[in-house]
Amino acid sequence: MYSTIPHWINGSATEGDSPNRGDVFNPATGAVARTVPLASVADVNAGVAAAKAAFPAWGNTSLAKRTAVMFAFRELFNARKDELAAIITAEHGKVLSDAAGEIARGLEVLDFACGIAHLSKGEYSENVSTGVDVYSLQQPLGVVSIISPFNFPAMVPMWFFPMAVAAGNTVVLKPSEKDPSASLWMAELFTEAGLPDGVFNVVHGDKLAVDTLLEHPDVASVSFVGSTPIAKYIYETAAHHGKRVQALGGAKNHMLVLPDADLDLVADSAVNAGFGSAGERCMAISVVVAVEPVADELIAKVSERMSTLKVGDGTRSCDMGPLITQQHRDKVAGYIELAEADGSTVVVDGRGIEIDGDANGFWLGPTLIDNVSTDSDVYKHEIFGPVLGVIRVQSYEEGLALINSSQYGNGTAIFTNDGGAARRFQREVEVGMVGINVPIPVPVAFFSFGGWKDSMFGDTKAYGPDAIRFFTRQKAVTSRWLDPSHGGINLGFPQSDA
Ligand code: NAD
Repeated sequence: MYSTIPHWINGSATEGDSPNRGDVFNPATGAVARTVPLASVADVNAGVAAAKAAFPAWGNTSLAKRTAVMFAFRELFNARKDELAAIITAEHGKVLSDAAGEIARGLEVLDFACGIAHLSKGEYSENVSTGVDVYSLQQPLGVVSIISPFNFPAMVPMWFFPMAVAAGNTVVLKPSEKDPSASLWMAELFTEAGLPDGVFNVVHGDKLAVDTLLEHPDVASVSFVGSTPIAKYIYETAAHHGKRVQALGGAKNHMLVLPDADLDLVADSAVNAGFGSAGERCMAISVVVAVEPVADELIAKVSERMSTLKVGDGTRSCDMGPLITQQHRDKVAGYIELAEADGSTVVVDGRGIEIDGDANGFWLGPTLIDNVSTDSDVYKHEIFGPVLGVIRVQSYEEGLALINSSQYGNGTAIFTNDGGAARRFQREVEVGMVGINVPIPVPVAFFSFGGWKDSMFGDTKAYGPDAIRFFTRQKAVTSRWLDPSHGGINLGFPQSDA
């Protein structure tokens, strides 16, 4: 791994011309492991210029050749993905098996993108009028930008760039400055797989780099994933500058537990979905909505499972790693204090937990809070840490109303053995991704991913069929060849014959 993680512009590593550097920590030791250059405007412009120069040739490259590069990338990726998992664990902190899991979900999208020849087929209607045919083309946009968050340093960029590149676009990716090495690894590998220089560029940076992309006249689109306030800003700013934009934001995901549910399955699911990746997942379950009388029994089962979780260095055999920074760890711990002050019951307290790792890491253990008040910031804010809240309700209707009144609508799950109730829930809940006895309903790559309400701004979701729509411009062609039956001059609006 590099000690200073370079940008990747026009097929080469470069540190750019900015003197600004960010620290990249190993969250399991608390030490600064490497630094990352924070791009100047000129560095971002260089990335966009490389992408712009590469676009005419790449956009005109045949589907057969583009697909061959995608397959070569996929082969290399599969052969060497363990290297990437180690990089993710070293910079993000998540345990190695979890890093491998996010890579597997990213690879699904790469698999899907290998089918670009089929996916980008247009439509054709013959003889819409006598001797006239109409067909549609899907053409690439040009230079597209991707701005990604820290929590999935490989998977979230992969939600977008394989589809964008396969569709004939060129890319500037601005990954999170907190764990940027994964993006660089993928860019180098893509080049090794035969991708022409300039098609996939990585520019590291902070707000300055993002703003430069949002306003750049040569950038056609913005795909953003991050917290809700920034997503809203990205959506408004990019749209103001005439760009196509999809901005996925934060979340507060509820699990509704009906009294007939299998409580052992629920307890396993709540622990897995609440504490996997230390709760730093946009699809993490952060609130269990228990329809009485099950809450006491469920809390006992969840607490028992939590007591078996081993927290520590992700390279060891632990269940859960550290949080991303000390600052974020302290912010999450602050919500536990707030819960106590608000009169909630802290059933399991993750502060001061025993860990298997360096004491200077950014540790916070799994925490369970009962009787969370919906007026409390503990409920209203996205905590993004290993803190699971429980709210007790008296009926399905009360639980549903609670979920639907949330500002967020990313993911949700219902646990029940009643098919009718589940079907009612999938229809009535105002959330973009729904699980039925499945706690983290991230759609597979051939469906699209995205939430509702403040969890997503824009009309087109990530990956799946929506990605083709987002990363191509549709063109409709109306054609007539050697038609001897033309009707001469007619200034009326063209219409089909009967
Ligand atoms: P973040 O919003 O802090 O950062 C996301 C990206 O925006 C980063 O690349 C960052 O450099 C950039 N950025 C940060 N501040 C900015 C500013 N003021 N102006 C312009 N750009 C800025 O998010 P994060 O902490 O990296 O990631 C966690 C958040 O991402 C959580 O809210 C989580 O729910 C969300 N997330 C959502 C999804 C989803 O699919 N909806 C997926 C993953 C993560």
